[in-house]
Amino acid sequence: MYQGVNASDGIGIGTAIVAVEPDLSYTPTTPESPEEEKQRYKAALDRFIEKTQGQADRMRETVGEAEAEIMAGHIILATDPFMLDEINNRIDGGMCAEQALNEVCDMFYAMFDSSEEQLIRERCADIQDIRTGELAELLGKEVVDLSHLPINSIVVVHDLTPSMTATIDKENVAAVVTETGGRTSHSAIIARALEIPAVLSVEGCCTNIHNGDMCIVNGSTGEVHVQPSPEELEAAKAAAHKAIAEKRALEIFRGKETVTADGERVLLVANIGNPDDATAAVEHDAEGIGLFRSEFLFMDAKELPSEEEQFTAYQKVALRMKGQPVIIRTLDVGGDKEIPYMNMQPEENPFMGYRAVRYCLNNPEQYKVQLRALLRASAFGDIKIMLPLVTCIDEVRQAKALIDVCKRELDAEGVAYNKDIEVGTMVETPAASLIADDLAAECDFFSIGTNDLIGYTMCADRGNDRVRYLYTVYQPAVLRSLKRIIEEGRKAGIMVGMCGEAAADPLLIPVLLSFGMNEFSVSAPAILRTRKVISQWSKEAADAITEEALKLKTAAEVQALLSAAAK
Ligand code: PEP
Ligand code: MG
Repeated sequence: MYQGVNASDGIGIGTAIVAVEPDLSYTPTTPESPEEEKQRYKAALDRFIEKTQGQADRMRETVGEAEAEIMAGHIILATDPFMLDEINNRIDGGMCAEQALNEVCDMFYAMFDSSEEQLIRERCADIQDIRTGELAELLGKEVVDLSHLPINSIVVVHDLTPSMTATIDKENVAAVVTETGGRTSHSAIIARALEIPAVLSVEGCCTNIHNGDMCIVNGSTGEVHVQPSPEELEAAKAAAHKAIAEKRALEIFRGKETVTADGERVLLVANIGNPDDATAAVEHDAEGIGLFRSEFLFMDAKELPSEEEQFTAYQKVALRMKGQPVIIRTLDVGGDKEIPYMNMQPEENPFMGYRAVRYCLNNPEQYKVQLRALLRASAFGDIKIMLPLVTCIDEVRQAKALIDVCKRELDAEGVAYNKDIEVGTMVETPAASLIADDLAAECDFFSIGTNDLIGYTMCADRGNDRVRYLYTVYQPAVLRSLKRIIEEGRKAGIMVGMCGEAAADPLLIPVLLSFGMNEFSVSAPAILRTRKVISQWSKEAADAITEEALKLKTAAEVQALLSAAAK
């Protein structure tokens, strides 16, 4: 049994598919017959084209035309006459096919990479895909295709990246196991949005678990059983059935208002990463969107999305939510959110570096593209703008000034937008927590980002397994920070929500209610469960347990107290 981080609830039972990068090393040789070597290369190329065409066709059906076009582009490039001539000439000169392919890919890569044009430079990624795909064919190695998996697959990968999730065949994935990442890493957030059970940070899983191994993955406890006994298998099946029954029982909360046991109304909204997720939010009965992580739009693109592209995405969410609140966070780039084409300089400490609102305010022309798109979309629903990683008042003032510039531009152009659009801030840094009173005076709302707030308060990275014991919301330092933020926000009369993962923590909910938090933004599948937990707490009971919790000195004691109270 392996123990990892419980990242996405549910029990998956199935067969392991270990998606490791294949070893594509080879020893260069001089083939006896260049003609036969060229034939061997041609056969490998044909197999590569056939597989790529299959992937493009499936992506067209499941993901979309744009993604399918990228795959089709690989075929056009791989069959480029100049490229083929260069490879065949090298084979004629005595090289083996692997070496000829590698050299020509290096040549194309250098050529694209030195281009002035970004679109051409981006083709370097295509060259790498072609190199990997064709080399794998030549060497008889398997490159795992996540877009086409057998039913009940347990995907075992080093990390689940946003690009993998664009292609993953989620109907057939029973669970995901990764080597890296914590509960708040983006792999975890994506797995929860896709409703795939996931256990992360299982050290060595890509080597210790083998293709075809039978696995039980418990995304709620973080346990992974490999080659389980018949008894373990029976127990897991029973637990999976129980989990399904519990999920069904939550259905009585569908369509209900979110109220505490003594009738206090709070807002229960969803976190999303792309416009299509809004459909899942509606299906799970969210009362709006509390966090649209707009950086995913940027991460999924090959270049900066234009104002029109962004407007279309934001408008789609606004229309889908039919007048319910939609909080869209402006680009939160940097830290663990890399956007390759933005060519950000490597930094010694990227989590504390040039990122998020700092980057955007330094690039006002680029920021205005997003702000204009948000303003224009606000004519179609209740869109609110949220600033990430705020640490001082100046950032809020500068962002609001830039929003005013955009408003004036739109006025001059006669374009409609909501003149009273709300502008709020994430409270996710100790600095923002300490100046919460001043911030509240200049913001329309707060949304607490515990994923970062815990990390920055405890000086512990969210994805670092070795400091996981520090990275918990039950730390007294974190609780005191939350108390301060919520109380200062409510004193100023603004809405105080939370969009960090802790908002869905059933143990923490009474504490947040006692502090006065009035908006909970959770992953869509956690909506009904969160509504149920909120309904179980009265103000009096929540205050009593919170008073006790605040007296405790360690995270373990706080967690034990809240666990006992939850039972
Ligand atoms: C947070 O920090 O809590 C948050 C919601 O933002 P992200 O996880 O995207 O950093
Ligand atoms: Mg954050």
